[in-house]
Amino acid sequence: MLELKNIKKDYPAGDGTVHALKGIDLKFRRSEFVSILGPSGCGKTTMLNIIGGLDQYTDGDLVINGKSTKDFKDRDWDSYRNHTIGFVFQSYNLIPHQTVLQNVELALTLSGVSKAERKKRAVKALEEVGLGNQLRKRPSEMSGGQMQRVAIARALVNNPDIILADEPTGALDTETSIQVMEILKRISKDRLIIMVTHNPELAETYSSRIIRMLDGTVTDDSAPLSEKEVKLETMRDSTDQEQSRKKKKPSMSFGTAFSLSLKNLFTKKGRTTLTAFAGSIGIIGIALVLSISQGFTTYIDAIQEETLSSYPLTIEKTNTDLTALMETFMNIDSTDADHPLDKVYVKPAIYDIIDAMNNMESTENDLKSFKSYLEKEDADTDSDLHKALNGIQYSYNFDMLVYTKNVDGKILRSDTTELLQELMLEYMNVDMSSMTTMSESFGFSSDSPMMSMFSGGASSNLWEEMLAGDDGAAISDVLKNQYDVVYGDWPHNYNEIVLVLDENNELNDMALYALGLTSEEEAANMIKAATNQEEVKRNTSTWSYEEICNMEFRTILNSDCYSHDAATGLYQDLRDTDTGLQYLYDNGISLKVTGIIRPNKDTTAPMLNGSIGYTSDLTKYVVEHAKESDAIAAQLEDPATDIFTGLPFQEAKGDLDDAGKAEELRSYISTLSDTDKAALYVKMMSVPTEEELSGMVAQAVDGKSR
Ligand code: ADP
Ligand code: MG
Repeated sequence: MLELKNIKKDYPAGDGTVHALKGIDLKFRRSEFVSILGPSGCGKTTMLNIIGGLDQYTDGDLVINGKSTKDFKDRDWDSYRNHTIGFVFQSYNLIPHQTVLQNVELALTLSGVSKAERKKRAVKALEEVGLGNQLRKRPSEMSGGQMQRVAIARALVNNPDIILADEPTGALDTETSIQVMEILKRISKDRLIIMVTHNPELAETYSSRIIRMLDGTVTDDSAPLSEKEVKLETMRDSTDQEQSRKKKKPSMSFGTAFSLSLKNLFTKKGRTTLTAFAGSIGIIGIALVLSISQGFTTYIDAIQEETLSSYPLTIEKTNTDLTALMETFMNIDSTDADHPLDKVYVKPAIYDIIDAMNNMESTENDLKSFKSYLEKEDADTDSDLHKALNGIQYSYNFDMLVYTKNVDGKILRSDTTELLQELMLEYMNVDMSSMTTMSESFGFSSDSPMMSMFSGGASSNLWEEMLAGDDGAAISDVLKNQYDVVYGDWPHNYNEIVLVLDENNELNDMALYALGLTSEEEAANMIKAATNQEEVKRNTSTWSYEEICNMEFRTILNSDCYSHDAATGLYQDLRDTDTGLQYLYDNGISLKVTGIIRPNKDTTAPMLNGSIGYTSDLTKYVVEHAKESDAIAAQLEDPATDIFTGLPFQEAKGDLDDAGKAEELRSYISTLSDTDKAALYVKMMSVPTEEELSGMVAQAVDGKSR
C-alpha cells in the first residue's frame, strides 16, 4: 500500500515561501485507477513528483508498502524509482531518431538484462499498448496518441507497481484520449495508476476513484479505503516485507549515486524543473529524465555517451535564428482580428513571410579563435574541458571527393547525394540541388542535421569521418566500443577506410550503387518502377567480405581538379570532361578497405550513419595538400577575382544595387586588355540556354565555398 501521511511541501519563492502541499493524507490500493482533479497550481504535479521520488517532501512521511521513506538514502530512492514507478508525461519525451522499439528498450538499457531479454520485454510492452506491429516506426511517423502509447509502453517495460501520469491526454484530441484511457484502465487491473487530468468526463468514465484538490489540500475523495481494506493491505505489506527479507538483495550495483556534477545540477535547479524542461532541452534532457525516473547513475553516463555520439554538440560558423520565420509560417498571431465575423476578410501572409525572411538574424561564430581555445584546453589534460569531452571533431567546408570504377566500368563519384539528385532530376523532374542551395542560404551546412532533413536523411553522408582518439590514435575508443570488427582491422593510416554495415549485415541499395557495387541501370529501374508504382524484384545479391575489401576507391584532392588554361588565362575544372576525370582518377590517392565493422549488440545509438568510415588523418591530408595547388595560390593572390570566370566576386560588392553593379562591371572591363575583353565577352555570350546559365550560377555558388 502507498500512503501519504500529512505530506507538506514548501518552495522558497522570492523572499517568502509557497506552501504547495499543506498536509496531504491519502492511502492508495495496490491496484486502482485514481484520477486527480483540481485547478492549475493547486499542487497536483507536486504531489505526483513526491510520490514518484522526483521531489522531496518538506514534512510528513511517504510510506511505501509499510516502509517509511524518512531515512531513505539516494540509492534507496534510485531503487524505488527504478523498480516501483513508471512515468508518463504530457509531452511524450521520445527520442525522435530512434525507432519505437529502441525508445522502449532504452528504458531497460542498464537494468542488467541481456539485449535479447530487453527486446523481448519491449516488444511485449508495445504489444500491450496495441503497437506490436509498429516496432520499426519512428516517433515522427506517428500520431500524438500513438506516441503517448509508446510512452506508456516505456513506463510499463520495467513492470512497475505504480504508474504516474501527469496530464497524459493534455495534448490529445478526444478520440485518441479515449484510446489512451482504455489502455491505462486495462493496465490498472494489476497496478496502481495515479493520473492528473483536467478532463472530469474522462476521469468519471475511466477511473475507479477521483480525488479533488484545491490550494494544496485534498477536498474530496470518491473512494477512500475502508478500515477493513486498510487492515488487509497492511497485512499484505508485512507478509511481503518478510518475503523480501528472505530473498537476496539485488545483485546489480546501482552505481555510486549520481555523479557529482549532476548532483549539483539537481540541487541547484531542482529535479522537477528538469522534468518540465526535458522536452525543450532535447535528447540529453530526456536522457536525464529517464535516468531520474529509472534511477541510475551509470545510466546517465552511458546514455550521455551514446546519445552524444550520434547527436554530438555541433557548433557552426553561422547561426540563424529561425523563430520569426517559423512563427510566421505557423501563423501564430491570428487571434487579434478586430472585425465582426460577418464577411470574408484578408489576412496578411505574403508580406509577413518575406519580411520575416529578410529580417532573419544570423550571427557569425569566431570558429578560428574557438578552435585554438579548444586545442589549448584539450591539450591540458587537467583542464575541466578535457575531462568533460569524449572527443572533438572538426568539419571543413569541402567535399571529400572519392571516385570509384563501378560494375559498368564507369568512373563514378562515390556519393549518394549526387546520385539522388541526378536520378530525381532525370526521372521525376525534381531539382533537389535547389533545396541544398536553399538550406545553405539559411545558414545550414550541407551535412547538418537540418540539411539531412531536407535531403532525406539516409541519403547523405555516405562517407563519414570517424572520431579520432586521444593521443593521436586513429580511432576513438568511444567508437571502437560501439562496433565489432567482423572482418579485417580498424584503419591505422590516412589512406585506410572501413565499410560500415548495419546490425543485420546490410547496406542500403543507394549506398551499394554509390560504392560502385551495383549498376546504374539497376538504380534507374528501381526509380522508374517506384515512380510508376510497379512491383520490383528484390535484389538478392550478396558480396563476400573479401570482395568488399578488394573494392578500389580513389580520392582526388580538390585542389588538383583545376587546371590553368593558357588561352583564356582562366582555370577549368578537369572533372567536367571524361578525359579530365580519367586523368584525375589515375592520379588519385588509392584508399584501401582494411576492415568491415558492425554495431555491436549493446549499442543503442551507433555513432556512424555513413557506409564508409575514413580517418581524420585523411581529412588533414587533403586539407594540407590543398595549399600546394596552383589554383588556390592564384586565388589567394587575387582574392577579389574569381579564377574561374575572371569576374570580381559578387560577395565583395554585396550592397550594390543593379545600377551600381553595372557600373562596377563597366569599370572593371575598362581595365582589361583587348584580348582579355574578348575572352570575357566570348564567355558571356556563350550562355545561350537557361540550363547552362543555371549551371554557371551553381558553379559560381559552389566556387565560393571551394
Ligand atoms: P499543478 O500541477 O496542480 O498545476 P503544481 O504542483 O505544479 O500545480 O504547483 C503548485 C504550487 O507550487 C504552485 O503555486 C507553483 O507555483 C508552486 N511550485 C511548483 N513547483 C515549484 C518550484 N520548483 N519552485 C517554486 N514553486 C513551485
Ligand atoms: Mg501540473
